[in-house]
Amino acid sequence: MRLFKTVLEMSAFSKKARLNGKSIGLVPTMGYLHEGHLSLVKASIDSSDLTVVSIFVNPVQFGKNEDLAKYPRNMKRDLALLKKAGVDVVFAPEVSEMYPNGYITYVSPQGGLEGLLEGEIRPGHFRGVMTVVAKLLNITEPDKAFFGQKDAQQCLIIKKLVRDLNFKAEILILPTVREADGLAKSSRNSYLDAKERVTAPAIYKALQIAQQMINLGERNPAVVIAGMRRLIGCEKNIKIEYAVITDPETLQPVSSIDGRVLALVAARVGKTRLIDNILIDRKVGSHHRRKNAKTHV
Ligand code: AMP
Repeated sequence: MRLFKTVLEMSAFSKKARLNGKSIGLVPTMGYLHEGHLSLVKASIDSSDLTVVSIFVNPVQFGKNEDLAKYPRNMKRDLALLKKAGVDVVFAPEVSEMYPNGYITYVSPQGGLEGLLEGEIRPGHFRGVMTVVAKLLNITEPDKAFFGQKDAQQCLIIKKLVRDLNFKAEILILPTVREADGLAKSSRNSYLDAKERVTAPAIYKALQIAQQMINLGERNPAVVIAGMRRLIGCEKNIKIEYAVITDPETLQPVSSIDGRVLALVAARVGKTRLIDNILIDRKVGSHHRRKNAKTHV
């Protein structure tokens, strides 16, 4: 496994690989790797000749009062995990390499998605994400880039970035990897103390309640959201930032649950901010079948 710290080395490697007809898969991360990251790595290795994993805690996507300084880091452990997984290249630049003196160019989403949910609570976050992803795509020139559904809004925004700025990479979104009790794996889970770790799965349980209510025929999003809030409300150390039922593409709240919807939750467990979501496909057929079955009896 090669470790590159400069843009020059990384670009030269990708250029040569492409000249040799090799396909490249990119997995962008901020490090402190867990099985969620490793599922993306595996998908890349399975479908690309060469896999590049970037490890870069991107300061531009953190707000002033956010956790940039204390964001967990363990490069040694990350490198060991990636080597074991069979990764070809790790790209781990310093901040000054990505944003050298005199840096002035940023990519910002305009119109819609960025003002909602994460974008509303974390102003400038998606500008930071888009900028770094655009840079990583240019530097590594991947055929495919892999992202996790856990960051649903980020996935939608990156798909737009690639489409709008004509990047060549195909964007692949992989399912959320969870702990045995349902808590979505996250580098930030390491902030949770023992008590918080016990209550944190309420976020996923709330999403499951939403799914159950919808599967049982509930079509009013307000009723489903109230169910989600009730469940999380039982936990004293969790404060909801948002719990919503939205259109999966626009992230706008739906007025009635008629097809596929995305349920999203952001909450603070103690001081730790966690997000999670699930895509819910209303089982129109099964509900109607049950109704029809009753009529026939
Ligand atoms: P991060 O290091 O948190 O920036 O995440 C890097 C990539 O891993 C992003 O595409 C995330 O969406 C993805 N990711 C983070 N957590 C998970 C998870 N639990 N399951 C699947 N993908 C994840």
